[in-house]
Amino acid sequence: MKVLVINCGSSSLKYQFIQTENEAVITKGLIEKIGGDAEFTFCRKNGEKVKKNLSVKNHTEALKEVIANLGEKANGFINSLDEIEAIGHRVVHGGEEFYKSVLINDQVIASIEKFSELAPLHNPPNLQGILSCREVLPNTKQVAVFDTAFHHSMPEKSFMYALPYEYYEKYLVRRYGFHGTSHRYVALKTAEFLGKKIEECNLITCHLGNGSSITAIKNGKSIDTSMGFTPLEGIIMGTRCGSIDPAIIFFLMKKENLSAKQMDDVLNKKSGLLGISGISNDLREIDQALDQGNKRALLAKELLIRSIRKHIGAYMVELGRIDAIIFTAGIGENECSVREKSLSGLEEFGIKIDPQKNESLKGKPGDFSTPESKIKALVVPTNEELMIALETQWVLH
Ligand code: AMP
Repeated sequence: MKVLVINCGSSSLKYQFIQTENEAVITKGLIEKIGGDAEFTFCRKNGEKVKKNLSVKNHTEALKEVIANLGEKANGFINSLDEIEAIGHRVVHGGEEFYKSVLINDQVIASIEKFSELAPLHNPPNLQGILSCREVLPNTKQVAVFDTAFHHSMPEKSFMYALPYEYYEKYLVRRYGFHGTSHRYVALKTAEFLGKKIEECNLITCHLGNGSSITAIKNGKSIDTSMGFTPLEGIIMGTRCGSIDPAIIFFLMKKENLSAKQMDDVLNKKSGLLGISGISNDLREIDQALDQGNKRALLAKELLIRSIRKHIGAYMVELGRIDAIIFTAGIGENECSVREKSLSGLEEFGIKIDPQKNESLKGKPGDFSTPESKIKALVVPTNEELMIALETQWVLH
């Protein structure tokens, strides 16, 4: 099946056109700065990457550009609109309602709108993408794939916060977890690699990128995850603080005379690796500073590794038996030193890594544990777009 995968942000539309049978990306692209003078980056059939400027008022116009581009003579990816057999949308928040991907209808649209309150930055543009597709391709089936759905299996004792129970009842304040599409994808790939059914696998999946989360998977299902009510909780991220003592928030608001919005910016945009290092949210830049002896760069990396280890430790205890610990996303796939330090000294717990194998896995999949290690240590590159395309196909068949 040929699936158009759409990921809409507030001023962007990312797409991949995927042939699910051979898991091939037919083409992909991105329109940025929607709302005025936009930039359209796409690939020609010969693989050449092209960037052009154009005026794009809204997501519907952006989608029309994408469709026109797919059918352009010079590209020739499709001869007719029917060749787009389905559309798969990334939707960040499915609330408590969606535990799997679903065919989009009016009721699903109303629910996505309802959950915008829980993800005000993400659900509205995701929904806009869906509405634009309805307008431009009214006969094409659309599927919503939720970032939260994989974590729907978490038991109450994992998803509840120890706040007055009425806030859960009144406002649905609970842990939802995110990056579910990525955690599910790498878990399925790991099961394939181990030659086991996913239902037999106990895993710890570490999605470490600019945003990061770690998930405990028992018998193929998420039973706990580090992100919570929002993607702010958990381990240290590029610009997000991860878990902190909530009392700090009130202390700083008073001391610095910050509004709620300003405090939110501090926690989401000025903290994490950037806040500690004062250099960058990008670990590659922090590594460069570290090589030059920058102490805060070192501290930022140490804090990141410590928070990863604390979560791995907690989930080892929760899971009891573990088949593999998996590293994925920008940092997880490329930063050998983070992987090595996250798993060092755990031989007593059944994890023995091979540093040379680890060094050889830069952006490549593979096993960097020793043959005698009880728990495998794996790099599994994530592919959220492919997972969305596959989910779309599974929903429609
Ligand atoms: P992501 O959000 O998954 O794109 O990951 C971004 C993070 O991965 C940044 O902190 C990057 O510094 C880090 N990273 C490290 N090495 C690489 C690499 N070779 N390619 C992309 N990201 C990398």
